[in-house]
Amino acid sequence: MPSFFNKHKDTSPPMPAPAVQAVQEAETLMNMPIPQVNSPDVSPADSDQESVPSIPPVIAFTEGSDYDLDAAKKLGSAFRTVANAQTGFQAYKGTTSFGIVNKTGDMLSAINTNVTNAQSMSSPLKSAYESEAMKTIRSGVNALVDSLPGLIKALDEVAKLHPFIGIAVGAFRVVVELDLKRRDNDKKIALLFLEMKDMMEALLQLDNIKDRDAVGPGGMTIEARMQNLVKQTADDITACGNACDTYAKKRLIVKVIKGSVWESTLKTYIDIFAKRRKDFTFALAIHTGAGVDDANRKLDTLDHKMDAIMEFFAKAISPEQQEMAALVQRKGGPTAVMGNPEALSELLKFKPTAVTTATKRGEREAPQHSSHPAENDLESLRVELFESPAVAIRNNLEVFERKLKMQQREFAEEMLGLVHHEGDRVIDAVTSGPHDKIIDPDIHEIWKEMRWRGHVKARHFVLALRDYYRQQIDVKKRARGENLITSIHDDDEWALEWININRLQAIAEAFDDDASGFITIAEVNQFTSSRPKDWSLLHWLAYWAIGWSAELESTVGVDSHYFPGWQMTATYYRDKVVELLAKMFAMRPKIHNANTEAVQKYLLTVYRRATTLTSSFICTYQDDSLKARFQSYVDAEEQRLREGLETVRYDIDAMDTLTLITGPGRIEKSLFPLLYLLLKRDFEIFRLCQKMIIHKDELWDAADTIVWVFDAVVYRHNDLEALFKQQRLDPVQQFKAYASELFDYWHDDAKFLSLENLRELEWTEFEYVEENEEQNVDSKTILNYPSAVHNLYNIPDDIVSDSDALADNDVKSILGRWYGLIGAERWPITAIVSFCFHASADTNTYEASDVAAHGTGYTIHGDYTKKDDGTIEYNFSRTYIARLRKTYFTGTLDEDGEKLSGSWGYSETEKPYRFIFWKNVSPEILIARPPPSEFEENKTKALWKYALTAAHNEVRRKMFSWSYLKERRAIRKEYLELLENESNNLTTLADLDRFAVLDRTATCEDVRCFYVLSDYQRRSVPTHLANCDTCGERIHGARMICIQCRAKDTLDFCDKPACREANKTREDITQTHVPTHTFVKVRTVLNQTRDIGKLLRMSDAGLERARKLLDSSAEAEAGSAASDNDGTELKTETKKVEGPREEADAAGTGADVKVTALTCVSCSSLVSYPCWYCIDCSADARVFVCVDCDEKNGGVTVGDHLDTHSLVSCKLKVAEDDTEKNTEQRLSSVEGKLAALTAQMERIEKLLESLAVSRSS
Ligand SMILES: [Zn+2]
Ligand SMILES: [Zn+2]
Ligand SMILES: [Zn+2]
Ligand SMILES: [Zn+2]
Repeated sequence: MPSFFNKHKDTSPPMPAPAVQAVQEAETLMNMPIPQVNSPDVSPADSDQESVPSIPPVIAFTEGSDYDLDAAKKLGSAFRTVANAQTGFQAYKGTTSFGIVNKTGDMLSAINTNVTNAQSMSSPLKSAYESEAMKTIRSGVNALVDSLPGLIKALDEVAKLHPFIGIAVGAFRVVVELDLKRRDNDKKIALLFLEMKDMMEALLQLDNIKDRDAVGPGGMTIEARMQNLVKQTADDITACGNACDTYAKKRLIVKVIKGSVWESTLKTYIDIFAKRRKDFTFALAIHTGAGVDDANRKLDTLDHKMDAIMEFFAKAISPEQQEMAALVQRKGGPTAVMGNPEALSELLKFKPTAVTTATKRGEREAPQHSSHPAENDLESLRVELFESPAVAIRNNLEVFERKLKMQQREFAEEMLGLVHHEGDRVIDAVTSGPHDKIIDPDIHEIWKEMRWRGHVKARHFVLALRDYYRQQIDVKKRARGENLITSIHDDDEWALEWININRLQAIAEAFDDDASGFITIAEVNQFTSSRPKDWSLLHWLAYWAIGWSAELESTVGVDSHYFPGWQMTATYYRDKVVELLAKMFAMRPKIHNANTEAVQKYLLTVYRRATTLTSSFICTYQDDSLKARFQSYVDAEEQRLREGLETVRYDIDAMDTLTLITGPGRIEKSLFPLLYLLLKRDFEIFRLCQKMIIHKDELWDAADTIVWVFDAVVYRHNDLEALFKQQRLDPVQQFKAYASELFDYWHDDAKFLSLENLRELEWTEFEYVEENEEQNVDSKTILNYPSAVHNLYNIPDDIVSDSDALADNDVKSILGRWYGLIGAERWPITAIVSFCFHASADTNTYEASDVAAHGTGYTIHGDYTKKDDGTIEYNFSRTYIARLRKTYFTGTLDEDGEKLSGSWGYSETEKPYRFIFWKNVSPEILIARPPPSEFEENKTKALWKYALTAAHNEVRRKMFSWSYLKERRAIRKEYLELLENESNNLTTLADLDRFAVLDRTATCEDVRCFYVLSDYQRRSVPTHLANCDTCGERIHGARMICIQCRAKDTLDFCDKPACREANKTREDITQTHVPTHTFVKVRTVLNQTRDIGKLLRMSDAGLERARKLLDSSAEAEAGSAASDNDGTELKTETKKVEGPREEADAAGTGADVKVTALTCVSCSSLVSYPCWYCIDCSADARVFVCVDCDEKNGGVTVGDHLDTHSLVSCKLKVAEDDTEKNTEQRLSSVEGKLAALTAQMERIEKLLESLAVSRSS
């Protein structure tokens, strides 16, 4: 039991008189030259050496009082003692008797432990700071959460005495609170916090210094002595908080693959905190001069503890991490995996089998937070893997600082909020029972009367509450006219009737935040103190009690006059959410092509779950005048949420940020207002998307932010479900009543989102009318990123880093930004390369990371070798995050260190090509440089040409000369054409030559811009959010949906014969799908949830119309053919239809039955089965497209009919006995089967190959 881990108590204040004896004993023990090796497991190698330098060797004292002298003597002897112990141990270490000494050491430490135990037992702070029972580090980590509030309270007390530590205490408090809000359960982070906590505990010793102005040795007050240390500590705490925040956000796979790098980054904080703790202890010891020996001993044991901490740190790996690590190992280890996209994408799909759904709160399975469609995942993962912790932490700082600000605001509000309810009880430290901890006087009375303990059954609570208020009414009635005081104001009498048995569920839910069926004192205080400042408790109760369940209306015959409250507020925002979403959908056709994909992805991510919530919730609508009673609260809440969102710039990056914004308590309270505010901003982004090209991450982040809100819903739902089960209630039934059925569909969305349901569902539609919307929206305040085009010209800041300053001279000379050209068969083979070399941490290597002009990120790592003749050769390699080949470079600097040139290649040994990089040469100048061949031919001439061109360009650029702009534009046009060819695999040798010329004469920023433009152009080609049921691939171009099969989900096919003509069987269809089924052909990307029902309904209706038209046309044709064999008459009618659309419409609406000849809108030839009919054009327009025209052109645009319209296939109904057709059908089905088989074989082949690869690796 007396494990040495107990010694974390060493930091408690020096003990008062009674324990002196024990310490003296300890001192004597310390004087013995025997080292304290506490655990045989601890490696003796480095733990002890470290403790020596940590003790200040010389401390100069000014001549002072006897007190100082005394202290100096004590100190001196203390140092000697430690030094003796050290030498003693060094001597022992080499001998074989080491093991025995170890044992002795163990015994010693056991005694020491007891001493420190005694000490902390008598600590004066014991009452305020109790929960320090740390048997082992593990239990310390586990108990961390419980021990922190006590410590913070104690620190606050100390800070009252010594305000200068306030800055560190404040930082500690904020960072701790943020960590608690994050809800993750990472043991490594917990350990960091444990160390942080231990360090902060050292500050508690300040409590012993009652006189803050007292001067210690050196004539310094304790404040002067420790001020800087404390300030530095505050910074360290914040930095550590940021590091933990960054690490916590990394996904499992990154934590595993980059585990060791992250570990060493996080470990530095353990060291820092341990060191600070020593610093504190020493500063205090020196100041008081009393407990110096004691301090030495404490610090000595501290170092031993460090080893164990580091060991624990390394072993603190979750079961999922272990599982993933094993998988990574099977695939060849972290390095191999990082270079293998297939392995990475496989790892991305990994789902841990380890059951982590422990019963404990906070350890359940977290929702899979992923808003990003899978195919982008690999790319973003690669970027994440290549990012070093230092960079990641730096990038996270801004977000983290916003969170800090939010948390500080919350604390400030709490401080204000605690005092503002009139009549609230003041909670004394001395209590006679649990009820004395209740702030509200009424509930305090009830609690006391009922002699409840820490918690009470919700039902009993509400009943008692009702009885209490009934009694109060009686008192009040009797008191009429008299001057009797009751707790009920006249203004609140209306609310009384709602505190009754029918409201039991509502009132209980309002108090019982965790839906446990019990109400605790904490919950009572939370509920009563969260009410608006000028509301009475009754008013507040009414807000929650009224309008929770629609049933109540019938059972008690609720007077609609009192039906507002929570549900009404939620309804109000729910409707706004529905409206905004509908408008966003309505806006789709107006979105700029380059933004279409971003908009689609956003809606895909957000809509399904948003509508699950808005559709599940039971709305209640009331007279506007009734809102007034609660309006002030509703407005204040919206304002509070808005301010929170503005602070984080509408970017929620983690659960803690969300909790900061919503405040404590269940998510359903603020769910719809929050969604409304987020969607409102995103709606404004949508509006901007009509006019400008936005950054690709803008809506991505916006969608991700909303996914965090959904995650909170998932947490809440899972909590509730677990609780219902615990109470042996049926979750399905409970969710059908709880919180106005908000979670009903969420709990089981299968039926709601089934195709069968979607077919019938008609969403609320809203038109988007630009004029009706706000007109003065400033894009600068809405967008978080610069627009796509602006972003290109961002100049990266090349700030000298800490390691740059420490690098050795040969590395120093190549640090900085370089611009250069790389050649091979052609000069150059790629656009100007630009990167900034920084020194690596180990001072003799260097690195750089940047993005190539074509948009792929890369990193460079290098070192150097010294040749015999003294020249320095720099070797570096460039690795791309995508599947581009690694390149190796070897080069030397010229005399003035401005030019780095040499050779490069695709292997370390063979470098046949050359490169030149320049420093301090701007790319604008560089593009004037003639190719090396001209230099070789005639150097002077080439130089002369270089100078002339550069000067000429400079002048033209500065004057915005027309010819210069024209030339630039021509370059851009040509480059885009070349890129277009490249993406179509049509690049010729001549193209490559032109690329070389253009790359040499365009800056890297220019080329980057060309690539982005080309990328945005290509982005507008539709890629459907559906996979083909035949080939399994994503559908591009046109998507064929069977409208005949009744399945759980649609049957989708590529518009390729091999795919669309295949038969298909699936679990969810009873009859085989055959190609003779009716299809609708879609060329715009659908949002399955929102659009599919309408599309299918329109297809059915369209098909019916088309059939009628085609059938009557065929009849008419047959009729006219019988009566009149002259075909010319038909032809003239054809022309008539082909005329302007208005005319055709007029003709169609008229009674002119003669215009039945139906023609293809494109080629005007007569149409009959089979053909296509447009379901987007008006019924009167009768737009048919013949099979040939559609196939040939991939959709046609004529008049109002666009090539993006959806077409339904009109086929002759297949008669059962039609043998010929059947044979044809059977044949085509065989063909289809073959095609499907081929596709399947191809997949099997791929699978086999990948298996072979993973085997061999
Ligand atoms: Zn079908
Ligand atoms: Zn296909
Ligand atoms: Zn045609
Ligand atoms: Zn059309």
